[in-house]
Formats: sequence, structure tokens, C-alpha cells
Amino acid sequence: MMEKIVIVGGGLSGLYLANLVQEAAKEVVVLEAADRLGGRIHTIQGVEATPMELGATWFSDMHPRLLALLGKLELEKFPQFSAGISLFQTKSFEPPQKFYIPESEVPSYRIAGGTGALITKLASQLPATAIQMNQRVKEIHDAEKGLEIVTGTGDHFSADKVILCIPPQLAGVSIQFSPELPESLATVLPSVQTWMAGAIKFTIEYTAPFWREAGYSGMLYSHAGIVMEMYDHTNFEATRFGFTGFLNGGAVNYPIAVRKELVLQQLVLLLGEKAGDVLSYLDKIWTDDLLVSGNTAAQRPHQNNGHPLLQAGYLKNRLFFCNTETATEFGGYMEGAVRAVEALFSSVFSH
Ligand SMILES: Cc1cc2nc3c(=O)[nH]c(=O)nc-3n(C[C@H](O)[C@H](O)[C@H](O)COP(=O)(O)OP(=O)(O)OC[C@H]3O[C@@H](n4cnc5c(N)ncnc54)[C@H](O)[C@@H]3O)c2cc1C
Repeated sequence: MMEKIVIVGGGLSGLYLANLVQEAAKEVVVLEAADRLGGRIHTIQGVEATPMELGATWFSDMHPRLLALLGKLELEKFPQFSAGISLFQTKSFEPPQKFYIPESEVPSYRIAGGTGALITKLASQLPATAIQMNQRVKEIHDAEKGLEIVTGTGDHFSADKVILCIPPQLAGVSIQFSPELPESLATVLPSVQTWMAGAIKFTIEYTAPFWREAGYSGMLYSHAGIVMEMYDHTNFEATRFGFTGFLNGGAVNYPIAVRKELVLQQLVLLLGEKAGDVLSYLDKIWTDDLLVSGNTAAQRPHQNNGHPLLQAGYLKNRLFFCNTETATEFGGYMEGAVRAVEALFSSVFSH
């Protein structure tokens, strides 16, 4: 009988692993809690269909496994635009400092069409029946001949192996296991930091790159305004224009209309009146229930990512953890997700 694998989570790690498992001629089902795939990869279309990143955006030559995957999937990369005057705003009552990024600097890349192209491509290589949306896994039981999975809709699934491609901290608080996970592991799970939990990412779309025309790169770092960090977000074809970046943590206290107003105020001050004339503004506060649940205690970045207990098998070697936070290197990043999948696949499936 064909081995049946259930993958929990349809983000980068879950979908890439599903591709590898399927290539190894095993039956695979991905259960995704949300009504969209991608998790922390979340590309939206602006009003002019500009690909805008509310989640993961950049990578570099330091990320060889991700680059190899992009190559395999025939997805194109392009450098982040950084030519021209960049701004550093130290105090709101002083003019910003101006600086230039040297051309020799290792470039950051983006994916042509948006990071979401990676998710769409991985999903398109799986049979439609292999992905089940709106299925939040709530319980995993050891059921003699395999594992039994129960979702929020009350549906039951059975599997020879279950791979948890979700943040380990989230698995610890949102899934009930029977028998219970060993205490050593249960103690570690709440302390595994989930990368970017709590971040606030914004996108703005414009009809024209007015900043480039005025000699600016669109890059901004600020200690003074609501925008902490910002970059040019022009598309690969250089036909659609905008910015993306991060707001400071205090922004969480305002409704979106106020956040938009404060962002535009800051940009008009720094880049002129044209910055106020936007096609669209959107932002996302990454504290939702499918990224962090319950335990939101501040943790050090990447704390306990790649912990040895996350590399082991549980429930008679039928249950495994595999997402970016389990990676022993580059934990938290897309590169980490790719590495975690390749490591898990070679240790659990390629024999
Ligand atoms: C704002 C932001 C900016 C970022 N920028 C970058 C960047 O520039 N470069 C970079 O390399 N990385 C960046 N990252 C990190 C990158 O997005 C992640 O490393 C990567 O997407 C993680 O993929 P994953 O599959 O491991 O986890 P996730 O993307 O978290 O996927 C987990 C999936 O599981 C689902 N799920 C959760 N619980 C359950 C359940 N119980 N049952 C079923 N499904 C469930 C979720 O809905 C989600 O789809 C950023 C992240 C954010 C949030």
C-alpha cells in the first residue's frame, strides 16, 4: 500500500515538501487552515495589478538553496532597486541625512511577479485533491496503525506520517496531541521564536516613480516617523510603481486609516507632495491566530530555531516538525524553510 502523508500547513515549507513527497510516489494531502495558501508569503495585487508584498520579499546570494529552488521552478529574480539618494531620519524636527548605497553592495533580490509566484508554482504541481483549504488541524492521535488527524470542521484524516509545517510555537499551543508530546519537547515549543511575528508591513502603489525622477532610491530608515524602513517596490517589468516597508511597533495602536494618514504625512515631508497621491495603501499586522496563538511573550529573534528536539520524530516516529523555524541554519527565512524541507525529506523519506 502507498504510504500516506499528511502535511499540516500550506506555506512555503508545506508546499515544497508536498512536491518532494509526491515525486517520491507517496500519497500526500496538505491541510491548510486559511482560505489562501502561502502563510507568511502574501503577495496582493494593487489596483493596477502591481504585485505588492505584505510578507516575505527579499533574498540574496547568501541563500543558495532558495536560489536553486527558484531555478528549478523557472522563476526569475531581479535586484532590489537602490540607486540614488537614500534617507535616514534621526529626529522628526531635523532634516533627514542623505546617503548612497555603494554599487558594490551585495544586492537583495525579489521574485519577478511577486514572492507569491513561488507558492502558485509549487501548488500548481500538485493534484487539486492534494490541497484542502479551510482545514485547521486541532488534534493528532496515535491510532494503532497510524495517526488520526481531526480538524476544526470536524473532519477526520488518517496518515502513516504527519509533518507539521507550521511554526513550532503555534503547534504547541493550537494542536492537541494524544498521547501528549514528551515534556522536554513541550517545554521547548513555547520558546521557539516565530520570525516576524508582530511585524507590520505596508505597501503603497503609485501611478509613477516620482521619487526616482527626483533622484531618490525610495529607501528610507527612520527613528522619527511611523515608517521605520522603506524600499522601492517597482515591479520586475518596471511598469508598476510603489513602496513597501515596515511600520514601527506603536502603529498597532491606530486604526488603518490613521496609519495610512501618518505614513503619507511622513512621506510627503520627505519626498514632496506627490507622495500623498496614492493609488492604494495597505498594511498587515502579523499577529493573527494562524501565526501566533496565545503565547506572545517577547522572545529573542530566532530563539531556539533549529533546536535539536525539533529534528526528532514523535508518536512512534510518525510525527515530525518541518518549517523555517526548525532549520538549523537561516531559521525564520525562506532559505530556512527550503533547507528544513530538504533535510527532513532526506532523513525521513529518501530510502
Ligand atoms: C512581514 C514579513 C516579512 C518577511 N520578509 C522576509 C524576507 O524578506 N525574506 C525572507 O527570506 N523571509 C521573510 N519572511 C519570512 C518568510 O515569510 C518565512 O520564512 C516563510 O514564508 C515561512 O514559511 P513556512 O511554510 O515555514 O511557515 P508559514 O509561512 O508560517 O506557513 C504555515 C502555514 O500553516 C498554516 N497553519 C497554521 N496553523 C495550522 C493548522 N493548525 N492547521 C493547518 N494549517 C495551519 C498557516 O495558515 C500557514 O499557511 C517574512 C515574513 C513576514 C511575516
